[in-house]
Amino acid sequence: MNREVERWFIVATCEKCQKTIYLVRDLNQGKGSLNAIYDVICPFCQHKGSYEGRHHREIVAAMGAGGVSSPY
Ligand SMILES: [Zn+2]
Repeated sequence: MNREVERWFIVATCEKCQKTIYLVRDLNQGKGSLNAIYDVICPFCQHKGSYEGRHHREIVAAMGAGGVSSPY
């Protein structure tokens, strides 16, 4: 039985390599307000930047009864 669950993240787009940087899990499911600036180093190109986060929703298939699946 496959269910799909939503996962929300606060993300930013690297200004150098344009990849999506996952900042934190968004535990408010996209309902919270974003008024923080995140200083992050891009994990892809090591570019350091300051970004306003944005909400990002992913749909993932829930495996089994545990809900959110572990990568391990
Ligand atoms: Zn980058």
